[in-house]
Amino acid sequence: MHGASTMGVFDHPEFDQHESLHYVQDADTGLQAIIAIHSTALGPAAGGCRRWQYASDEAALTDALRLSRGMTYKNAIAGLRFGGGKSVILANDEIPKSEELFRAFGRAVDSLGGRYITAEDVGCSVEDMRHVNKETSFVSGLPKSGESAGGDPSPITAYGVFLGIQAAARARLGTDSLKDVRVAVQGVGHVGLHLCRLLHEAGAILTVADVNNENLKQASSELPVTEVAPTEILYSDVDILAPCALGNILTSVTIPKLKAKVIAGGANNQLATEDDGARLTERDILYAPDYVINAGGIINVAHEYFGDSSEDRVRADVAKIPERLRAIFDEAEETGQPTNIIADELARRIVAGKG
Ligand code: NAD
Repeated sequence: MHGASTMGVFDHPEFDQHESLHYVQDADTGLQAIIAIHSTALGPAAGGCRRWQYASDEAALTDALRLSRGMTYKNAIAGLRFGGGKSVILANDEIPKSEELFRAFGRAVDSLGGRYITAEDVGCSVEDMRHVNKETSFVSGLPKSGESAGGDPSPITAYGVFLGIQAAARARLGTDSLKDVRVAVQGVGHVGLHLCRLLHEAGAILTVADVNNENLKQASSELPVTEVAPTEILYSDVDILAPCALGNILTSVTIPKLKAKVIAGGANNQLATEDDGARLTERDILYAPDYVINAGGIINVAHEYFGDSSEDRVRADVAKIPERLRAIFDEAEETGQPTNIIADELARRIVAGKG
């Protein structure tokens, strides 16, 4: 492990006072990873591990930094005894997923002595975390045992997003029911597919897109969905857009073309920049801050990690997501401030012990 001084990291626009940043390399397995610890003020930095093929090391660093700060804010607003961190494993075609790769990653997590707790995110599975767990106990999202919390957090993330969509629909569309409400879901992976199931049960009309044909096939074989091209999904003529793929999708280029009145979905870092929240407000589009609506997974992870709960307790905690969103929506209505700014300020107050 070595420092990152050669990348000009301290003045990186997303550095934002990270406590530490760890570059990990393991010659035997080819592992290359970045572990970003944004804050341990409220507890050990917790956040998942993403395995992704990045265009450059710089793109991987930016992703790790943005995701990590987002975890600080997410954990604070969810009322968890966790700070914020995140890790990314740089994927490439020559280094497939393997037990050894994840064990090497586990040793790197272990070397941080509990300052960072990992779990699965995009590109990683419960099985991968089982391998990580062979080298460290600072991991969650492991296979479930009995009725206790644990396992793949995405169904519970989707449940929280579903409840958040209901709250947003009430606030912006004035409806208590999702029957015949048109929802576009970008990405039908772990979170997106579970969300589609819940939306369908509630009577919503679904439009979906995915770059992965297998995942798309799974959704369309199971549910009545209209498929559109990944390049079109953001601009679908719908009431609600639920981003459930990757981040940076709401930009100065995409926002003017949106037709949805509500953005509420599971993806992290949906806004490309802070100013994009104001762009949505100007268009009278209600944005459910991503880290508030998608906290179900980390709430599940926290209960599993601290070993203090059953699935029922987790669901009861996740059911608090809509009230947190309602408070943000109400403040936005009263002050005209963008919802992302209200959420960021609330999170920073909590981290500073003034929340
Ligand atoms: P996943 O990899 O299972 O699903 C993501 C899906 O999006 C995949 O099917 C992928 O092919 C698709 N996709 C990628 N780029 C796309 C594009 N341009 N257009 C359409 N589809 C595209 O990941 P996931 O676990 O479902 O997570 C989805 C998002 O939710 C991520 O941003 C993740 O960080 C966030 N999130 C996940 C959890 C969780 O519990 N899994 C919790 C909180 C936040």
